[in-house]
Amino acid sequence: MNETSRAHFPVIRRPQRTLTPEEHETVRRTALLNFQGGMIMGIIDPVPNPSPMSEEEGARVRERVWPAFMTEIDRKYPFGFWRWSMCERGTCWNCLAKRCDLCVHRQEGGPHVDDNTDWVYGARGQGVAKVILRTDDAPCVWWCRCPCAKDGPAPDGPAQRRRRAKQAAAAKPEAAPAQEDGAARPDRAAAPRQGRRVPQSVDEAQYTLF
Ligand SMILES: [Zn+2]
Ligand SMILES: [Zn+2]
Repeated sequence: MNETSRAHFPVIRRPQRTLTPEEHETVRRTALLNFQGGMIMGIIDPVPNPSPMSEEEGARVRERVWPAFMTEIDRKYPFGFWRWSMCERGTCWNCLAKRCDLCVHRQEGGPHVDDNTDWVYGARGQGVAKVILRTDDAPCVWWCRCPCAKDGPAPDGPAQRRRRAKQAAAAKPEAAPAQEDGAARPDRAAAPRQGRRVPQSVDEAQYTLF
Protein backbone atom coordinates (compact mmCIF):
# COMPACT_ATOMS: atom_id res chain seq x y z
CA MET A 1 0.00 0.00 0.00
CA ASN A 2 1.51 3.34 -0.88
CA GLU A 3 0.29 6.90 -0.78
CA THR A 4 0.82 7.59 -4.49
CA SER A 5 -1.43 4.82 -5.75
CA ARG A 6 -4.13 5.83 -3.30
CA ALA A 7 -3.89 9.45 -4.40
CA HIS A 8 -4.45 8.35 -7.99
CA PHE A 9 -7.42 6.17 -7.21
CA PRO A 10 -9.65 7.76 -4.59
CA VAL A 11 -12.30 5.45 -3.15
CA ILE A 12 -15.49 5.49 -5.16
CA ARG A 13 -18.41 4.97 -2.77
CA ARG A 14 -21.29 3.12 -4.33
CA PRO A 15 -24.38 1.89 -2.49
CA GLN A 16 -24.27 -1.58 -0.99
CA ARG A 17 -26.95 -4.11 -1.78
CA THR A 18 -29.12 -5.47 1.01
CA LEU A 19 -30.16 -9.01 0.22
CA THR A 20 -33.79 -9.90 0.74
CA PRO A 21 -34.64 -13.12 2.61
CA GLU A 22 -35.33 -14.78 -0.77
CA GLU A 23 -31.94 -13.62 -2.05
CA HIS A 24 -30.24 -14.97 1.09
CA GLU A 25 -31.83 -18.29 0.32
CA THR A 26 -30.55 -18.14 -3.27
CA VAL A 27 -27.05 -17.43 -1.99
CA ARG A 28 -27.31 -20.21 0.57
CA ARG A 29 -28.18 -22.72 -2.13
CA THR A 30 -25.15 -21.84 -4.26
CA ALA A 31 -22.65 -24.69 -4.68
CA LEU A 32 -19.49 -24.21 -2.60
CA LEU A 33 -17.10 -23.68 -5.50
CA ASN A 34 -19.33 -21.09 -7.13
CA PHE A 35 -20.05 -19.47 -3.80
CA GLN A 36 -16.33 -19.03 -3.15
CA GLY A 37 -15.75 -17.81 -6.71
CA GLY A 38 -18.60 -15.36 -6.30
CA MET A 39 -17.08 -14.10 -3.05
CA ILE A 40 -13.72 -13.52 -4.72
CA MET A 41 -15.31 -11.72 -7.66
CA GLY A 42 -17.63 -9.59 -5.54
CA ILE A 43 -20.75 -10.94 -7.23
CA ILE A 44 -22.50 -12.28 -4.14
CA ASP A 45 -24.18 -8.90 -3.68
CA PRO A 46 -23.73 -7.06 -6.99
CA VAL A 47 -25.65 -3.88 -7.75
CA PRO A 48 -26.81 -3.43 -11.35
CA ASN A 49 -26.12 -0.12 -13.07
CA PRO A 50 -29.19 1.66 -14.46
CA SER A 51 -30.18 -0.08 -17.68
CA PRO A 52 -32.62 0.75 -20.47
CA MET A 53 -33.68 -2.91 -20.27
CA SER A 54 -35.99 -4.12 -17.50
CA GLU A 55 -35.11 -7.18 -15.40
CA GLU A 56 -37.74 -9.22 -17.31
CA GLU A 57 -36.37 -8.14 -20.69
CA GLY A 58 -32.88 -9.04 -19.52
CA ALA A 59 -34.06 -12.46 -18.40
CA ARG A 60 -35.72 -13.00 -21.80
CA VAL A 61 -32.50 -12.12 -23.63
CA ARG A 62 -30.47 -14.47 -21.44
CA GLU A 63 -32.97 -17.23 -22.03
CA ARG A 64 -33.51 -16.83 -25.77
CA VAL A 65 -30.44 -15.12 -27.16
CA TRP A 66 -27.50 -16.26 -25.07
CA PRO A 67 -25.60 -19.34 -26.19
CA ALA A 68 -25.97 -22.35 -23.90
CA PHE A 69 -22.45 -22.19 -22.45
CA MET A 70 -23.13 -18.70 -21.10
CA THR A 71 -26.47 -19.65 -19.61
CA GLU A 72 -24.92 -22.71 -17.96
CA ILE A 73 -22.23 -20.73 -16.15
CA ASP A 74 -24.56 -17.86 -15.38
CA ARG A 75 -27.04 -20.18 -13.68
CA LYS A 76 -24.47 -21.43 -11.19
CA TYR A 77 -24.06 -18.05 -9.47
CA PRO A 78 -26.69 -16.53 -7.21
CA PHE A 79 -27.10 -13.47 -9.41
CA GLY A 80 -25.44 -14.64 -12.59
CA PHE A 81 -21.87 -14.55 -13.78
CA TRP A 82 -21.61 -12.84 -17.15
CA ARG A 83 -23.76 -9.85 -16.50
CA TRP A 84 -21.60 -7.98 -14.01
CA SER A 85 -19.06 -5.37 -14.97
CA MET A 86 -16.38 -4.29 -12.49
CA CYS A 87 -18.32 -1.22 -11.36
CA GLU A 88 -21.34 -3.37 -10.47
CA ARG A 89 -19.50 -5.68 -8.09
CA GLY A 90 -20.46 -5.61 -4.43
CA THR A 91 -18.72 -6.28 -1.15
CA CYS A 92 -15.41 -8.11 -0.81
CA TRP A 93 -15.32 -11.52 0.91
CA ASN A 94 -13.51 -10.25 3.98
CA CYS A 95 -16.01 -7.47 4.59
CA LEU A 96 -18.88 -9.92 4.06
CA ALA A 97 -17.29 -11.96 6.84
CA LYS A 98 -17.08 -8.78 8.95
CA ARG A 99 -13.29 -8.61 8.57
CA CYS A 100 -13.07 -4.99 7.44
CA ASP A 101 -9.51 -4.89 8.78
CA LEU A 102 -8.70 -7.19 5.84
CA CYS A 103 -10.89 -5.52 3.17
CA VAL A 104 -9.22 -6.51 -0.11
CA HIS A 105 -9.06 -2.94 -1.28
CA ARG A 106 -7.50 -1.83 1.98
CA GLN A 107 -4.85 -4.53 1.69
CA GLU A 108 -3.88 -3.67 -1.84
CA GLY A 109 -4.18 0.09 -1.46
CA GLY A 110 -7.03 0.02 -3.95
CA PRO A 111 -8.41 -2.14 -6.70
CA HIS A 112 -6.91 -2.90 -10.07
CA VAL A 113 -8.28 -0.27 -12.37
CA ASP A 114 -10.30 -1.56 -15.28
CA ASP A 115 -10.07 0.22 -18.62
CA ASN A 116 -13.79 0.98 -18.68
CA THR A 117 -14.50 -1.36 -21.57
CA ASP A 118 -15.87 -4.85 -21.93
CA TRP A 119 -16.58 -7.15 -24.85
CA VAL A 120 -19.62 -8.23 -26.75
CA TYR A 121 -19.39 -11.95 -27.45
CA GLY A 122 -20.54 -13.87 -30.49
CA ALA A 123 -22.53 -17.09 -30.39
CA ARG A 124 -19.37 -19.20 -30.18
CA GLY A 125 -17.93 -17.10 -27.38
CA GLN A 126 -15.52 -15.03 -29.45
CA GLY A 127 -15.20 -11.31 -28.70
CA VAL A 128 -16.78 -9.33 -31.54
CA ALA A 129 -16.97 -5.76 -30.28
CA LYS A 130 -15.76 -3.53 -27.53
CA VAL A 131 -18.40 -1.85 -25.45
CA ILE A 132 -17.95 1.23 -23.29
CA LEU A 133 -19.66 0.45 -20.02
CA ARG A 134 -20.16 3.82 -18.45
CA THR A 135 -21.21 7.13 -19.87
CA ASP A 136 -20.20 9.15 -16.81
CA ASP A 137 -16.61 9.92 -15.97
CA ALA A 138 -16.35 7.36 -13.18
CA PRO A 139 -13.98 4.53 -14.03
CA CYS A 140 -15.54 1.10 -14.25
CA VAL A 141 -13.60 -0.23 -11.33
CA TRP A 142 -14.47 -2.50 -8.42
CA TRP A 143 -14.22 -0.73 -5.08
CA CYS A 144 -15.59 -2.97 -2.34
CA ARG A 145 -18.95 -1.44 -1.46
CA CYS A 146 -18.61 -1.95 2.28
CA PRO A 147 -18.73 1.51 3.88
CA CYS A 148 -15.58 0.77 5.91
CA ALA A 149 -12.49 2.97 5.52
CA LYS A 150 -10.12 1.63 2.90
CA ASP A 151 -7.06 3.37 4.32
CA GLY A 152 -5.75 4.75 7.61
CA PRO A 153 -5.34 2.56 10.69
CA ALA A 154 -7.01 -0.82 10.34
CA PRO A 155 -10.12 -1.32 12.46
CA ASP A 156 -9.92 -3.75 15.33
CA GLY A 157 -9.86 -7.35 14.18
CA PRO A 158 -8.81 -10.81 15.39
CA ALA A 159 -5.17 -10.23 14.34
CA GLN A 160 -4.85 -7.21 16.62
CA ARG A 161 -6.75 -8.93 19.41
CA ARG A 162 -4.41 -11.94 19.18
CA ARG A 163 -1.41 -9.64 19.24
CA ARG A 164 -2.68 -7.89 22.36
CA ALA A 165 -3.46 -11.24 24.01
CA LYS A 166 0.05 -12.44 23.26
CA GLN A 167 1.57 -9.25 24.69
CA ALA A 168 -0.55 -9.63 27.80
CA ALA A 169 0.42 -13.29 28.06
CA ALA A 170 4.11 -12.43 27.63
CA ALA A 171 3.83 -10.07 30.60
CA LYS A 172 2.70 -13.06 32.68
CA PRO A 173 4.96 -15.84 31.35
CA GLU A 174 3.35 -18.71 33.28
CA ALA A 175 0.07 -17.96 31.49
CA ALA A 176 1.51 -17.86 27.94
CA PRO A 177 -0.19 -20.48 25.77
CA ALA A 178 2.29 -22.29 23.52
CA GLN A 179 -0.15 -22.63 20.62
CA GLU A 180 -0.26 -18.85 20.15
CA ASP A 181 3.06 -19.16 18.34
CA GLY A 182 2.78 -17.72 14.86
CA ALA A 183 -0.81 -16.62 15.37
CA ALA A 184 0.06 -12.98 15.92
CA ARG A 185 1.94 -12.02 12.81
CA PRO A 186 1.40 -8.48 11.55
CA ASP A 187 -1.75 -8.00 9.47
CA ARG A 188 -0.07 -7.74 6.10
CA ALA A 189 1.81 -10.97 6.61
CA ALA A 190 -1.40 -12.65 7.67
CA ALA A 191 -3.24 -11.19 4.70
CA PRO A 192 -4.54 -13.78 2.29
CA ARG A 193 -3.48 -14.22 -1.26
CA GLN A 194 -6.51 -14.14 -3.46
CA GLY A 195 -9.17 -16.43 -2.08
CA ARG A 196 -7.16 -17.77 0.83
CA ARG A 197 -9.41 -16.33 3.52
CA VAL A 198 -12.61 -17.68 2.09
CA PRO A 199 -14.01 -19.74 4.93
CA GLN A 200 -13.58 -23.47 4.50
CA SER A 201 -17.12 -24.66 4.77
CA VAL A 202 -20.01 -23.12 2.98
CA ASP A 203 -22.09 -23.08 6.14
CA GLU A 204 -19.38 -21.35 8.11
CA ALA A 205 -19.07 -18.75 5.37
CA GLN A 206 -22.76 -18.23 5.04
CA TYR A 207 -23.36 -17.91 8.75
CA THR A 208 -20.80 -15.15 8.92
CA LEU A 209 -22.49 -13.49 5.94
CA PHE A 210 -25.84 -13.19 7.61
ZN1 LIG B 1 -15.55 -3.43 5.19
ZN1 LIG C 1 -14.10 -4.90 1.59
